[in-house]
Amino acid sequence: MHYTCFSCGGQYPLTDRRFRCDCGGFLTVESSEFFTPEALSERDFSIWRYREAFGLPEEAEPVSLGEGRTPLVRREIAGQDVAFKLDYLQPSGSFKDRGASVLMTLVKFIGVERIVEDSSGNAGAAMAAYAAAAGIGCTIFSPDYTPDGKLVQIRLYGAQVEKVPGTRQDTNDAAIRAAATAFYASHLWNPFFGQGLATAAYEIWEQMGGRVPPAVLVPVGSGGYLEGLAIGFRALVRAGYAAALPRLIGVQAHNCAPLHLAWERGLADYAAIEPQPTVAEGIAVQRPPRAAAVLAAVRGSGGRTVGVSEEEILDATKALFGLGLFAEPTSASVLAGWRKLPPAERDGAVMILTGSGLKQTKRLGELFA
Ligand SMILES: *Cc1c(COP(=O)(O)O)cnc(C)c1O
Ligand SMILES: [Zn+2]
Repeated sequence: MHYTCFSCGGQYPLTDRRFRCDCGGFLTVESSEFFTPEALSERDFSIWRYREAFGLPEEAEPVSLGEGRTPLVRREIAGQDVAFKLDYLQPSGSFKDRGASVLMTLVKFIGVERIVEDSSGNAGAAMAAYAAAAGIGCTIFSPDYTPDGKLVQIRLYGAQVEKVPGTRQDTNDAAIRAAATAFYASHLWNPFFGQGLATAAYEIWEQMGGRVPPAVLVPVGSGGYLEGLAIGFRALVRAGYAAALPRLIGVQAHNCAPLHLAWERGLADYAAIEPQPTVAEGIAVQRPPRAAAVLAAVRGSGGRTVGVSEEEILDATKALFGLGLFAEPTSASVLAGWRKLPPAERDGAVMILTGSGLKQTKRLGELFA
């Protein structure tokens, strides 16, 4: 098992403490094995029921907090059947636990003692939680303008927080510099994070009785989750467990939409943009490193991207609260995006609700006062 560069095809062993190729390209991994449906009935209710698909060495001991197996809730909206995947019901409160569990398992297996990561949001919280579970040191770099409230969860898990003056890019550069002495376990760069995210596809397939829906909507920041879903659904088709891929529909806020613009313009990589603030802060990623793979995944599934306004996001957030679904505004962008699809494309869609509103009740109280 090894890493393969998406750009030049260069290969590296999994024991290498690198986060990208020498050429600057991002890395991918593939598993030569897959689970069988028969084996699943005897397995534990976590993402680890699918472990053959991860491409991890067999001896690697899972770092798990019971992540995954989130509910799929069916509802009728405007006369259409849809389903919500409540992926905010995870140990640290977002879907990122799927990725953190698999990536931290690799980190522990190769003997890393301290990781660095740059995220003040849900990815930072997930990595800090799984570092705590693994007994591995964790330093999270965040821009110094990050409100302290957002760092509480990360700190309480025991991670060290380093505030970096300047832009988000300066924070990213600081994490990469720190990678000289610690492992940069990046949710944006490391492909094992995506292997973990792919488990949502396997779950949806199982929860729908061995079928896949016509469309899956997911909020897109870096696009890592969309890429992970594509990996999962492709593997199901390759194994003969599903007939075709669902259309993968990525939703971005107009205020920060480098991938949506790239899709509209037919670009192979992200579009250059000047980002504006958005209530969907979890998808405000100006330069998504794996953009080429994300756009290829959207196109390869016959899917599309959708751009949504701040008002449409807030409206959708409120509508979810009205259904008893307490997701954060970033997550609600999928419902805003679904509402903008041509009616014929709405029926049967699965919308993934990615993060919990419980992390920001104070802010939500102000937004919807
Ligand atoms: C990180 C995050 C996203 C975006 O995921 P990407 O993999 O970066 O596209 C969406 N919603 C929530 C709640 C998140 O935390
Ligand atoms: Zn390369």
